[in-house]
Amino acid sequence: MNLLIKETAKIIRESQFLMAFTGAGISVESGIPPFRGEHGLWNKYNPEILDLGYYLNNPEECWFYIREIFYDFFADAAPNEAHLTLARMEQKGFLKSVVTQNIDNLHFEAGNVNVHEFHGNSKRLVCLKCGKLYDSSDFDFDKIPPRCVDDNEILKPDFIFFGEGIPPNAYQNSFADAEKTDVCIIVGSTGEVTPASFVPRTTKQNEAIVIEINPEETLFTNQITDIHLKGKASEILGKIGKHLF
Ligand code: NAD
Repeated sequence: MNLLIKETAKIIRESQFLMAFTGAGISVESGIPPFRGEHGLWNKYNPEILDLGYYLNNPEECWFYIREIFYDFFADAAPNEAHLTLARMEQKGFLKSVVTQNIDNLHFEAGNVNVHEFHGNSKRLVCLKCGKLYDSSDFDFDKIPPRCVDDNEILKPDFIFFGEGIPPNAYQNSFADAEKTDVCIIVGSTGEVTPASFVPRTTKQNEAIVIEINPEETLFTNQITDIHLKGKASEILGKIGKHLF
């Protein structure tokens, strides 16, 4: 493993356009569980609460669980060593782009700037009628569902629900960066969610070197991964960081 880490650090140092593609696994050590798997959220909650059609018909019921998951449990989550290493890699000029499936804002909180949030961000709320955006910290969620001050419409978290499209800017910027990428590090993603998983696949089509950090094998592992660093994101990225900074 140490040799692979050293080799990865060398590849990163020599890269021209390095992308990090991140999934729920990078935030597990910040206390946010993934959706799938043994300790996944969908073992406890019904995914219907994030289905747009169901939500529009049952906003009060959905908001009860949305508040619990995203604004009670995850409110205090902070970036871990993996997020912090990626931020440092951007600050030092190694990392050019982060494409994340996560909606937890932790890449920005860690200090990354060029982040494309493929699925949106839970820290914002949006009015589906007038489009007005709110900061979730402006609400105490004592009274749910939260409502727009302009038109009294129920607000929705500004991340995509099942049945919604990818935010156009994030989509375009992610694929534009994927076209330029010569080294892609995938951190903590099963590769099961499309079209997000097409981003690292696009880098591979353009002959990027693909490095994967995940304790498990994924849909990427035997298809596009060149180097699989088997382990937890914070541990592996922490070790890579020691060779870079
Ligand atoms: P996923 O839930 O499908 O899979 C998580 C992956 O992380 C698995 O492959 C697992 O082996 C790996 N993993 C677990 N612990 C890890 C660790 N410590 N270090 C590295 N890897 C670890 O996640 P996904 O592929 O990102 O897709 C799920 C969808 O869930 C996405 O659309 C995303 O928007 C959403 N989601 C986001 C969050 C968040 O914002 N933190 C949390 C849950 C789900």
